[in-house]
Amino acid sequence: MEKRFVFHVDVNSAYLSWSAAYRTCILGEKKDLRAVPSVVGGDQEKRHGIVLAKSIPAKRFGIQTGEPLVSVCRKCPDLIVIPPDYSLYVRASCALMKLLERYSDQIIPYSIDEAWVILEGFGRLYGREQMVNLAWQMKEEIRDRLGFTVNIGVSTNLLLAKMAGEFSKPDRVHTLFEEEIEKKCGRFPSRSFLWQERPCPTGLGGWESVPSGSWPGLTALLSGHN
Ligand SMILES: [Mg+2]
Repeated sequence: MEKRFVFHVDVNSAYLSWSAAYRTCILGEKKDLRAVPSVVGGDQEKRHGIVLAKSIPAKRFGIQTGEPLVSVCRKCPDLIVIPPDYSLYVRASCALMKLLERYSDQIIPYSIDEAWVILEGFGRLYGREQMVNLAWQMKEEIRDRLGFTVNIGVSTNLLLAKMAGEFSKPDRVHTLFEEEIEKKCGRFPSRSFLWQERPCPTGLGGWESVPSGSWPGLTALLSGHN
């Protein structure tokens, strides 16, 4: 029986998803950037800079994150290129972290679009099946309330949970418990490495300042700033 469970929550194509959610939910645009070949990158007119995030349809053209825009526009002439909006991303990230706080008071942000949720003391009450169901519920709530999808990796420590979240994407929940490693990962990583945990850098400052209380959802949160 596990003493604790760890969920690793990772937004799928974060910059692209957040821009798409904002444009459809707030601006009322009909076209969803996630459904067409699109990327977040440098200057759209000058076509310089690199790809920071891409949609799944863009991925099908072989477009890679970090690739020069000039190159990806050759691969896909109809590609939609939008500029990054970092203030929007910080606000969307804050919204995500506040939602996660409803599930646990132990949230470890790892980057602007990733965090671990530590769930301790559930072992006596709930088994793995219920905890995996909880992860599915969390994933659906994020999608329904905030308008973007995440992958959630479920395990008993930070590293295995993060590895689980890297399996097929998007909008998925995967487990990676100790006895599943060989089957799901092929090779058995060093046990000492897997069980070594250190405090993680927060990677994102300022989200603590978002007021707590009733949850307004991304729409209300973003509307208040635009
Ligand atoms: Mg991500």
